[in-house]
Amino acid sequence: MPKSYTALKASESNKSASLYIHIPFCNSKCSYCDFFSVTDHSLMAQVLDKTMEQTARYIDYFGIKHIPTVYIGGGTPTSLPLPLLEKLLASVGNLPLEEDSECTIEANPETVTPELLALLSGSCINRLSLGIQSFSNSTLKTLGRHCDFKTNFLKLEVIQRLWKGQLSLDLISSVPGQSLSDSISDIDTAISFGPDHISLYALTLEDGTPLAWSYDPDSQAIDDNVWILAADHLEISGYRRYEVSNFALPGHQSEHNTRYWKLLPYIGTGPGGVSTLHTGERGLFRIANLPDLERYLSSDGLLCGAETEEITGKSYIFEYLMMGFRMTAGILKSDFLATFGMELSEVIPETLAEWKNKGLASETDEAVNLTKEGLLFLNQFLLDALSELE
Ligand code: SF4
Repeated sequence: MPKSYTALKASESNKSASLYIHIPFCNSKCSYCDFFSVTDHSLMAQVLDKTMEQTARYIDYFGIKHIPTVYIGGGTPTSLPLPLLEKLLASVGNLPLEEDSECTIEANPETVTPELLALLSGSCINRLSLGIQSFSNSTLKTLGRHCDFKTNFLKLEVIQRLWKGQLSLDLISSVPGQSLSDSISDIDTAISFGPDHISLYALTLEDGTPLAWSYDPDSQAIDDNVWILAADHLEISGYRRYEVSNFALPGHQSEHNTRYWKLLPYIGTGPGGVSTLHTGERGLFRIANLPDLERYLSSDGLLCGAETEEITGKSYIFEYLMMGFRMTAGILKSDFLATFGMELSEVIPETLAEWKNKGLASETDEAVNLTKEGLLFLNQFLLDALSELE
């Protein structure tokens, strides 16, 4: 094993690490999606076995004693047949979860049935994240979604009746052809089902996706203002924004994602899963599983052929800034000092002064954050920070 693996095992902070399990299967492919997932389910059982094996080996090898949060994402984890899903959840339930670990599973509406909800309710899962995206048939059609308005609505009624855990809904805004009133209507319909948490994403045209072939990113078809005004509507409705695209009722922020933005340790298993561990020497170690089912299945060893990268020095600082300033609470000065052994204000003094002067960043005794307007220019802030770091 390389020297850095010994450091990963020795690092105290890795003893408590979150778990992400990537299930790379979907029933159909949406036209905007660039996540790694396939619609051919023939290797499902083998991939699932190997993923569970990899999860157990990582926990054992890296000496993980506590798992504060679990996120089963994809893909569409609920596209697994119920017996396979049951096997996965039983295996996760036997891991060293903390007593109150937040355990989330992603689902798509067409896969929701009373049987699925009964299985989830009897397992470690206590948070359901549902990819609604829209209640408008024309928007759903543009996005190439498998569901129509009726399915989304009816499945949410089933969830409202049978699901007692937390509920998060995903919506997409700034879709070509979608007006502000369409987006607001989506939000109001979503809120009528009482979710604890809503993720409101602005559509991005990812290279290589069918939607990106159909629309010029500079065209008027994608109106960013729709997202900005829709986000305001969500906040007025009581959902507090705590990250660029995430909103929650008080006390219902996603703990898993917050740990991710704080670059706390997590392991990611399954094809396409990514892990980020602490080296114990002011560094990160990233392990990226191959997004390729056959190669994942045929690779032996702890990493199943994954690519690895050590992130230290300025690259680590920049990544910390990039993730931390996504959160509306910004970066805690004490966390930054404990992580890097220096003050945040020593690292990017000019950028902070300039952005505070313009009213786009603010600072308290505890934290530095971008203001609501500042977050609209997050990329420019990061470019300024990067050029000051270099
Ligand atoms: S369901 Fe999710 S992961 Fe699957 S293709 Fe659609 S957006 Fe991608």
